[in-house]
Amino acid sequence: MWIKKFLSFFTLLLTFLLFSPVFFSGEDVPQYDVLIKNGRIYDGSLKEALKADLALKQGRIVKISPSLEDRASRIIDAEGLFVTPGFIDLHTHVDEGMYFPENRACLNFLTQGVTTVIVGHCGASGWPLVEKAEDQMKRWAEEGIGPNSALLVGHGDVRRIVMGEEDRAPTPEELEKMKSLVREAMEQGASGLSTGLIYVPGNFSKTDEIIELVKIVKPYGGIYHTHVRNEGPKLIEAIKEAIEIAEKTGVPTHISHFKVLGKENWGKVKEACQLIEAARSRGLKITADQYPYQFSSGYPYRSLIPRNTWLGGNGKEVLQAEDLIEVFDNLRDSELIEIYKKTTPYYPFSLNHEEFLKNLSHKRLVQLVFRSFGNVTQILQGPENFKERMLFWQRMKNPEEGSTIREEVRNHIEKNLSGAENVIVAICGEKELEGKTLKEVAEIKGKSIEDTAIELELMGAKCIPFQMCEDDIEYIMKKEYVGTGSDGTSPFYGIGLTHIRSYSTFLHKIKKYALERKAVSVAHVIRSQTSLPAEIMNWKDLGWIKEGYRADIAILDLENLRTETSISNPHVYSQGVKYLIINGELVIEEGRYTGKLPGRVIKLKK
Ligand SMILES: [Zn+2]
Repeated sequence: MWIKKFLSFFTLLLTFLLFSPVFFSGEDVPQYDVLIKNGRIYDGSLKEALKADLALKQGRIVKISPSLEDRASRIIDAEGLFVTPGFIDLHTHVDEGMYFPENRACLNFLTQGVTTVIVGHCGASGWPLVEKAEDQMKRWAEEGIGPNSALLVGHGDVRRIVMGEEDRAPTPEELEKMKSLVREAMEQGASGLSTGLIYVPGNFSKTDEIIELVKIVKPYGGIYHTHVRNEGPKLIEAIKEAIEIAEKTGVPTHISHFKVLGKENWGKVKEACQLIEAARSRGLKITADQYPYQFSSGYPYRSLIPRNTWLGGNGKEVLQAEDLIEVFDNLRDSELIEIYKKTTPYYPFSLNHEEFLKNLSHKRLVQLVFRSFGNVTQILQGPENFKERMLFWQRMKNPEEGSTIREEVRNHIEKNLSGAENVIVAICGEKELEGKTLKEVAEIKGKSIEDTAIELELMGAKCIPFQMCEDDIEYIMKKEYVGTGSDGTSPFYGIGLTHIRSYSTFLHKIKKYALERKAVSVAHVIRSQTSLPAEIMNWKDLGWIKEGYRADIAILDLENLRTETSISNPHVYSQGVKYLIINGELVIEEGRYTGKLPGRVIKLKK
C-alpha cells in the first residue's frame, strides 16, 4: 500500500517540477536552446526584412519578438545579417552521391543555405531498382544526413524493373505491376512520382501510362514532378501533356527545371507560361522550378564537331555501339554482372539489386550493361582517340570532303549550339581564350567560325553552349509559381567536372538576379526557395520563419556572398551562409561546417 502512496506522491512531485513556471523560468536556467538576436528577418513572404529576435527550442521556432531576453544555451548575434527560412531545393539528384557515406552531408548544398532537398527526380530514384524506398529511408535515418530529404519514386526505374528498356506500351499485367511498385513506394513514405520523359525508358511511355501511375499517388496526397517530354521545339506540346496529366488525375503537377533550349526556340516560354496560367486559373495545381544558369546538363561540354561529321563514312572502322553489344552478347551473365558492378555508381548493391540482376534475361542484362558502360565509351571517342583523329585528318585533306565538314560544323554551331556568340570556351590550352565566346575567338584568330571550331576541338578545348537566354530565365523567375531547383548532385569534392549549379544555385540567384541585376527582389528570391517550395510540397511546418515551424534557418551575410565556382573549376563551396540550423542544430557556425548530420527523412505517409 505504501508503495502506491509513494508512487502517487512521486508522480505529483514530478508533475509539479515539469510544469511549474517557477521551476523553468528560474534566472539561471536557459529558456531556449538557441536565440538569434538583432538579425533582419525575411520570413518567407514577399515582405521586406524586419528586425526581430528569434528563439528556438527542441527543433522548433518558439518565439519571435522585437526583443527577447538573453536566456538561451546559445546566443547568436546576427547584427548586420539576414535571417531566412532554410532553403528548400525542389529538384536535385543528390541521392546518387548520397549513396556514399562521405557525401551524406551534401556540404555543397549546406554551404548554399539549403536545409531540405527533394530527390528521385527525372524518373530516376535508384529505387525500387537498387533497394526499397523504406530501406533507403531507414539507412539515411540511422546513419544521418545533412539536409532533410524527401523522396520521389522514379517512373523510369519502375518501368525498367517491369519491362526492361523496351520501346512499347505495357501489357495490362505489366501496368498493374508498375502500379503496385509505385503504391509500395508511397506506402513506405515517398512524396510522389517523377518522370523523365526524354530519357530511356521514360520516353517509351505514352501519356495514358503516366496518367494511370500518377493516379496511384493521389490518395496519399502525393505530387507529380516531371521532366517534360521536350524542352526545345516541342516545349508547348510537352507542357500541354503535363497539364493534361494534372487535369485527368487531379494530382498537383510540377514541371522540373522549366526552360527552353536552343536559340530558335527562345521566347517559347511565354506561351508555355500562358498555358500554365490558364490551367492554374481553372483551379489546377501546376507549378515549376528553375535553376538560374544559361547552360544545362551535369557535364555541360559539347563537341563543336557533330559525331557524324567527325566520323564521316568511316564510322564503321571505329568502335561502335553495335560492336560493344556484340561483345557483351558473347559474355556469360556472371561476367556481365561483374562489368555492371564496375561501371555503376550504386555499388555495393543491395540484395534486392543482386536478385534483380540474377533474374534478368541475357538480352536485358546485355542492354543494362551496355547502358552503364556508355559513359566509359564516351571517353574513348572524339579527338582523344588516335584512330578517329587520323581518319578525320585524312578527310580534311580532301578539298571536297573538307568543305562538307566545314559546312556541317557551321550548321551544327548555328542550329544545335545556339550560334558562335553563345558558345563559351571554358577550358583551353591557350589560357587567354578561356571565357571568350567562339565568335570572339574567331575574330582574334582571324579565321572563320568553323575553322576556329575545328582548331579548338583538335587542341582539346572544352566548350559550353549557352542554350538558354537571360530574357527567358528572368521571365520564368518572375512568376509567382516558379520555385528554385538546382538539378544539382552531391559530387565527390574535387573529383571530375560537374555543373556549377551543384555549388552555387541558391546564393547565385540572390546575388545575380536580386542584388546585381535587380530583376526580382531579394524577398521574391527567398520566397521562391522557402515558403513556395513548402507550399508546392504541401509541407505545413517548413519554409517560414513563424512560431511553431521547424527550426530550419539560414543566416546570411548578403553583402559578402561569394560564389566562386567556375565551369573549369567547379568544386568551390559558396560563401555567405554564416550560420545554418537544421532541426534546431547548428550545422554551419561562423561559416564552418560543424560535422553534424541532423537532417530527417520527410515521409509523406505518417
Ligand atoms: Zn531532368
